[in-house]
Amino acid sequence: MTSSLPVYELFALRYATREANRSEHFIGGDPHDGPMPMDYFLWAAISAERTFVIDAGFTAETAAKRKRTFLRCPIDALRLLGIDAERVKDVILTHLHYDHVGNFHRFPAAQFHLQEPEMHFATGRYMRYPRLAHSFEPEDVVGMVRLNFAGRVNLYNGPAELAPGIALHPTGGHSKGLQFVRVHTRRGWVVVASDVTHFYENMASGRPFTTAFHVGEMLEAFDMLVASAPTRKHIVPGHDPLVMTRYPAPTPELQDIVVRLDVEPSA
Ligand SMILES: [Zn+2]
Repeated sequence: MTSSLPVYELFALRYATREANRSEHFIGGDPHDGPMPMDYFLWAAISAERTFVIDAGFTAETAAKRKRTFLRCPIDALRLLGIDAERVKDVILTHLHYDHVGNFHRFPAAQFHLQEPEMHFATGRYMRYPRLAHSFEPEDVVGMVRLNFAGRVNLYNGPAELAPGIALHPTGGHSKGLQFVRVHTRRGWVVVASDVTHFYENMASGRPFTTAFHVGEMLEAFDMLVASAPTRKHIVPGHDPLVMTRYPAPTPELQDIVVRLDVEPSA
């Protein structure tokens, strides 16, 4: 069956980082607090026929405003893989938090793929509360509304096969309309979890990340990741620096910038 599916090369591109402590990453804190930095990624799935970019990263301006360490522009990082953002036709947005959508305007030819509840959430009644609104940049949200009027946002209400070998799975939880992405690669289906689990440890210990819309959905979403992946080694968290050490760089020049997710991890 799966042998007829296209095989995608799959990459994680690291574009930013920040210093942080363990207690910031787990609801209820952590009994052994200490440093636990956080990385910021976008992902690219490339077959002979098609390229899908997963998330768009934030801009230098947003990095400065939010005091994140901006390592490189996500659009420049894509270019290192031979991807010209101006020609990309499909961008999957896992959700609309600032660190996943900020460069939407750099993809002038793209259709965007998003779960509809995320659009409702980002434009709806909860955005009056800073606790939830803090994760969004109003200009990003307004930009997505404009793109929708331009016929460039595809809104889903449930799981979807976007293309053979590319599947969308809504979970909610961390954000109302969060989704993860399954990509068919040469090692089988790899699950790009995005913020369904920020770190390996959130899922492994059953302790969700501190930015939460619905904690119950976050816990169920861990189960969905496991159910959707051939093994736990096929699940790639959204913000974990360990991704850069467990997976290899495609070439020596791309060390510490890009890793391949379509090969077995070291742990
Ligand atoms: Zn998020």
